[in-house]
This record gives sequence, structure tokens and C-alpha cells, in this order.
Amino acid sequence: MELFKSTESEVRVYSRAFPVIFNRAKNAHLYTEDGKEYLDFLAGAGSLNYGHNNDTLKKALLEYIEADGVSQGLDLFTTAKHDFMESYKKHILEPRGLNYKMQFTGPTGTNCVEAAMKLARKVKGRTNIISFSNGFHGVTTGAVAATGNEHHRGGVGLPLTGVDFLFYDGYLGEDVDTLKIMDKVLSDSSSGVELPAAVIVEAIQGEGGLNAARAEWLKGLSELCKKHDILLILDDIQAGNGRTGDFFSFEFAGIKPDIVTVSKSLSGYGLPMALVLFKPELDVWASGEHNGTFRGNNMAFVTARTAVETYWKDDAFANEVKAKSDVLAEGLQAICDKYPSEFRLKGRGMMRGISATHADLTGPITKRAFEKGLIIETSGPNDEVIKCLMPLTTSEDDLRLGTKILGECVDEIMQEGVNEAS
Ligand SMILES: *Cc1c(COP(=O)(O)O)cnc(C)c1O
Repeated sequence: MELFKSTESEVRVYSRAFPVIFNRAKNAHLYTEDGKEYLDFLAGAGSLNYGHNNDTLKKALLEYIEADGVSQGLDLFTTAKHDFMESYKKHILEPRGLNYKMQFTGPTGTNCVEAAMKLARKVKGRTNIISFSNGFHGVTTGAVAATGNEHHRGGVGLPLTGVDFLFYDGYLGEDVDTLKIMDKVLSDSSSGVELPAAVIVEAIQGEGGLNAARAEWLKGLSELCKKHDILLILDDIQAGNGRTGDFFSFEFAGIKPDIVTVSKSLSGYGLPMALVLFKPELDVWASGEHNGTFRGNNMAFVTARTAVETYWKDDAFANEVKAKSDVLAEGLQAICDKYPSEFRLKGRGMMRGISATHADLTGPITKRAFEKGLIIETSGPNDEVIKCLMPLTTSEDDLRLGTKILGECVDEIMQEGVNEAS
């Protein structure tokens, strides 16, 4: 522990909330060096949708390594990449009527957001991009310009340019149609908002506090983009890969975004991998224009392909996720029902949480949860939302156990009062 504290940069985040040393993990559980078990409702911030060390993915990976399969392949053609692309096309894209080309970028979410924004600007020959209040799209300079969070923006030390912000669904209250405002702004060449190349949006804002856009809003946004000749970039890095019960978070709205960014749980095994999907006519890249050494993590291709073929060949897993979503929502709703003026259910699918009226309650609650063996984080502009991102493969018993522990922590903190607890 001392080595971390003296030698690892102060920039670290999660290890501050969970200051123990982990050495083993399986599905929805993490284990410490001294053998303590934790239920993991954080799951690599949504990068472990199929759980820690998923047996099926692990077997495919071990076989690939054992056979000396190519490990790092730049953007060379390899068997592992071919087989992933073929599977993804056949089981994910084609059944959903999506005709996209695939661009592998450097292996982080923010890198594929950078690529998506660059591509949109190049296609339309315009600088501006519109993002939404409380949106999160990564922390490299281009992507963080589209991220609302003050803390992340402030870290750059440069003026952030090329992005204007408009209002996400519900931001101005339930009664305000934020698309109407957007349409007005885009229709007025003197509104001060330059016609953008693209709009970038999350169907559920993960870091922004589990704000879930309504299907009608997403559909309206898609139509508005067409009307004004703007590309729609759907950032599915956190809400995708089955998190909502559909493979993509936007399917329920019946839209087909021009560009989709995918990462986090794409490899399924926690191996870094990122992908930009876009309509073929947008493929105006010159060779090497957006480059990167680690665009060919072939071990990730192997586990990503195995995840697709294990979980997405038919509806069984999607239906299982939907059923689990109900179990999760029930557990969280019970907490809200007990304290209706304090807590409110947020999110959609297995990307849910509870929002506290008093943001200062969530820190003590998640801290108490950790003491009771539950790893869970907060999100939202004031960390007012306790957020569940457990593996989709978490058992229903563990879902009930986790929400029960959370409920006990809420009871305790509500009784003790915030000051005492913190
Ligand atoms: C996590 C996330 C990113 C950034 O991904 P990194 O791998 O952390 O760079 C971008 N967009 C969304 C919606 C995310 O949740």
C-alpha cells in the first residue's frame, strides 16, 4: 500500500475509494490479497459486461496464446481480425440492418471519439460539433472539448474549442422540448452557434448521472440532424455491448446513427479495444490519417469474437439481461419508495442507479457499502447518483444481495445523518 501512495501519481481515482489490494477476480466478485471477497458493481467502469475472467472467453484466449497466434498486429490483416469482423458483421450489424464500415483505432474510448469527430469534420468541411450538457466522451483534448464536466475540462490547460453545447433530454425539466430549442438555434444563422459537422450524444449519459434519453427524443434528434445536414455520432462506449438489454443502446429508438463509437466491453475480457462504425459513404479517410500503434490487439479480437458468438447469436442473453434489469430496478425502486423525497430511480436496462436529492449522502453510502463488501461508484455533476454497472452475467441472487446491502447502507446513513457518517 505504501508504494502506491508514495510512488503512484495523485491522478489515481478508484483506488482512493477502494483502498485495498486486489489479486483475483471472478465474474461479479473481486478478492483481496488477504482473501476478502467483494461484490463488484463497478466492473471496470462498464468494461466487464461478461464478468471478470469469463470462462468461455478465457478458454478461447488461452488457446490462441498457446498456438502462438499474432498478439499485436498493427493494422495488418490477421486471421483473428478477419474472424472478429466476420462475426460482428453477421451477428451484430446485419440482423439490425446496419451497414457500417469498421475502423479500429488506438484501444481506448477517447481515441475512437477523436477519430469519429475528425472524420465528421473532414466529411462536412465544418469545424463545429454539438455536444450535450453533462455529456462525457473522454479526456484527450479533442474529446474532452465535447465533455461537459468542469473537472475534466479544467485538466487540459488549453482553451477547448470546436464544440458548442446544447441541452440533453430532460435537462430543462420534463416539460421543455430541448430539440425545439436546438432546431431554432440551428435554423438561425445568427444564433451564434455555427452549423456543426456533427452532433455527439450518448443514449444514456453514464458519467453525466444516468440520464436516459427517451426514444422519441433520440428519434427527433436523428431527424433534426438529417434536416440540417448534420452527422449523428452515437457514443455507445459505455451503454453499448448489451448494457441496456439490446446490443446497442439506441436500438429501442429505431435510429441508425451515421457514426457509432464502441469500446469498454467490446473485447469482453477487459482487454483494450476500440472501434468506430460509420456509413460507407463517410469513409473519406486517407491512408494513415488517423493512426496508432495499438490498433491491432489480436487477443482482444479473439475474445470479442467469442463474446459475440457466445452471447449474441440469438435473443437468449438479451432476454436474460432484460429480466435481470427488472430485478435490479425492483431492488433500487424499493430504496426509493422508502425515501421518496430523497431518492429517485435513474437509467435504463442494467445501467441504473439512484439519484439523491442531497448529493452529500452518496459518498458516505458508497463508503459504507465498501465496508460491507460491495464495490459501487457514483456519477453525475455532483456525484449525486449511485451507479450500478455490474457484469450482465451477475446472478439474480447477487443482484438482490447487492441492492439489499445498498438499502442497508442507505438506512444507516439516513439514520446517522450525513455529518456523523462522513
Ligand atoms: C468511458 C467513456 C469514454 C472514454 O473511454 P476511455 O476508454 O476512458 O478513453 C467515452 N465515452 C463514453 C460514453 C464513456 O463512457
